[in-house]
Amino acid sequence: MDDISLSGLTAVNPVPLADPRADGAPLREEILAAAARVLDRGWYVLGTEVACFEQRMAERLGVPGTVGVGSGTDALVLALLAAGVGAGDEVITVSHTAGPTVAAIRMIGATPVLIDVEADTYCLDPAMLEGAAGSRTKAIIAVHLYGHPAPLGVIAALAARHGIAVIEDCAQAQDAAIDGRTVGAIGHFGCFSFYPTKNLGAIGDGGLVSARDVKNVERLRQLRTYGWTRPQFAEIPNGRCSRLDELQAAILSVKLDHLDRQVERRRALARLYTEAFAALPIVCPIERSGCHHVYCLYVIRSRERDALAQHLERAGIMTGLHYPFPVHEQPALAAAARIPGPLAVTDWLAREILTLPLYPSMPAAYQTRVVDAVRAFFASSRAA
Ligand SMILES: *Cc1c(COP(=O)(O)O)cnc(C)c1O
Repeated sequence: MDDISLSGLTAVNPVPLADPRADGAPLREEILAAAARVLDRGWYVLGTEVACFEQRMAERLGVPGTVGVGSGTDALVLALLAAGVGAGDEVITVSHTAGPTVAAIRMIGATPVLIDVEADTYCLDPAMLEGAAGSRTKAIIAVHLYGHPAPLGVIAALAARHGIAVIEDCAQAQDAAIDGRTVGAIGHFGCFSFYPTKNLGAIGDGGLVSARDVKNVERLRQLRTYGWTRPQFAEIPNGRCSRLDELQAAILSVKLDHLDRQVERRRALARLYTEAFAALPIVCPIERSGCHHVYCLYVIRSRERDALAQHLERAGIMTGLHYPFPVHEQPALAAAARIPGPLAVTDWLAREILTLPLYPSMPAAYQTRVVDAVRAFFASSRAA
């Protein structure tokens, strides 16, 4: 029944990995009204919509200020610049992440130092940190991968000892928390992405940096507008042009009103998957005690990953690989990196991970199809 026949006789809709259009459909009228408000006001860059959205995000995070920028990648670049990181400095992060985490380090001419991740949370392994830090280390980028918080307690303690900055890559972790503290408000900087499939998604690109120090908030504002400290007066080196625009900010304000419900829905869907797969030979995501996982991506592990992915594709179910190539295997990023130790977990994860469909408006019937198809795969592979 799951087969897609080209004749159309048994065709069923494919189950997408994510569906930002469907997630936003109930908000259509509100979004159109917000867009019309911006269009009619006639002020399109850095106006009241961005200021209002930045204020709401600052309150949500409990920080003195946030700064809307052009993308999640730019958020990381501006945070690195604001932290005083420059060419020749080293920044420690993981190889098992989205390429942009490391591309941002290269964009300012710094050297990425790539370390391994933990086998259960897939986030930075703090045991690898001490051996990776050196006299040139200026910052650590902690990635809250898939929506699970990285172990910031240990990371922050080491950073304090070495006098270096902690930058949180929160692109996949809007509203994730550790012991009730929201990520993005724990390190010196929090970097967010509003790419459409992130938990808080725009209708295009967008990003935001949070900072716990008001001086850093001010510095970030200057960096996003040509390094100007007052109109038409560039004083801060390396200033960029990278701003969240009014239209996206107005739309994000609408989406923010519905975020809690959508995150709850992600968590409920994740729970259902994990229960349904309990008896199968696959590893489901964990939520470490004290951590609040927001399931931007639901990533399982299987020794038979490739065969399982093919089986699901034949059943009309889209899957993803986050990520197929660790950073240390991507020529443009690896060439400039320093790799102080083995990346054993990173290497085997790349062979076993598989991302299953999960998004707030995912119909229950779709999730049942995914569960049934996964069960059918293991039933037949056992019988074989
Ligand atoms: C999406 C993402 C980024 C980049 O965000 P963009 O808005 O696409 O530039 C950076 N880091 C991680 C972990 C991401 O998932």
